Amino acid sequence: MRPFAYVKPADVEAAVHAATTEPGAKFLGGGTNLVDLMREGIERPDTVVDVTGLPFDTVDELPDGGLRIGALVRNSALAADRRVRTRYPMLSQALLSGASGQLRNMATVGGNLLQRTRCPYFYDAASACNKREPGSGCDALDGFNRSCAVLGVSESCIAAHPSDMAVALAALDAAIEVRGVSGTRRVPLAAFHRLPGDTPHIETTLNAGDLVTAVELPPAPVAATSRYRKVRDRASYAFALVSVAAALEVRDGTVTAVRLALGGVAPKPWRAAEAERLLLGGPADEAAFRRAAEAELASAAVREGNAFKTRLAVATIVATLRELSTEGAL
Ligand code: SF4
Repeated sequence: MRPFAYVKPADVEAAVHAATTEPGAKFLGGGTNLVDLMREGIERPDTVVDVTGLPFDTVDELPDGGLRIGALVRNSALAADRRVRTRYPMLSQALLSGASGQLRNMATVGGNLLQRTRCPYFYDAASACNKREPGSGCDALDGFNRSCAVLGVSESCIAAHPSDMAVALAALDAAIEVRGVSGTRRVPLAAFHRLPGDTPHIETTLNAGDLVTAVELPPAPVAATSRYRKVRDRASYAFALVSVAAALEVRDGTVTAVRLALGGVAPKPWRAAEAERLLLGGPADEAAFRRAAEAELASAAVREGNAFKTRLAVATIVATLRELSTEGAL
């Protein structure tokens, strides 16, 4: 690993200042992704700004009935939080489906949001990868692309976003609290991650020195009947081929509230807005679930290795909604 400077700021102002003024600075939270990338020489910060001493490690009630989750809350602690388990079960399930117990004990909410893709070419310095080295090409386009995305992709990059947690947050309309040089602002999760376009190395809308300080969850009664279903190559410690975060309320056979987001199929957590539009107010039956799922996947751009994801995503959406339609019926 190449040498780097290490600073541990005492407060958030000092953290943002260090990240803005120190050359090539990176924030360090749990380190479960950054340290791996530094070992591989993919991330090469000149300065590591350790933010683990900052007071962002609690989950607090918001006046409107939502939750404010500090960016340094560990993934395992958030998954076990009783309020999350009862009010937003899809979020608890998504967290528990990710990584291993040891990694969840270290990984933070802020780091989970910002983790980099697991596209194998991104980690292989001998391969062409526009995300690692802008303008170098993309070996995944005609290479091993089984894990790659099918929605929102470009000719520059087809990497999938790896987070499970962020898929649930997308379905829950979460907002990201960011502290930057001009103060604190809130960014809707939908506007936090970028699609690759022709600049896949720019993955979020954060500015230099911006620090994620919290995630806010608005109240969502429908989320009490929700599920995160993840399909992967191994039963544990594997990234999603396809995942579905869904919440459903059914009254007298009609869908009266629905939330749907997809993982493993797009470069960012994918809110299935078209499927939600088709489902809301319609019958809660298998045919309607399938029509909505197929409409959401209609714009899929597949490659030889990942063409199976379209059918798998449709089947996973239908199965998840079918399950919820019996639990969420009033
Ligand atoms: Fe790199 Fe993206 Fe291509 Fe993977 S899909 S090799 S991350 S540019």
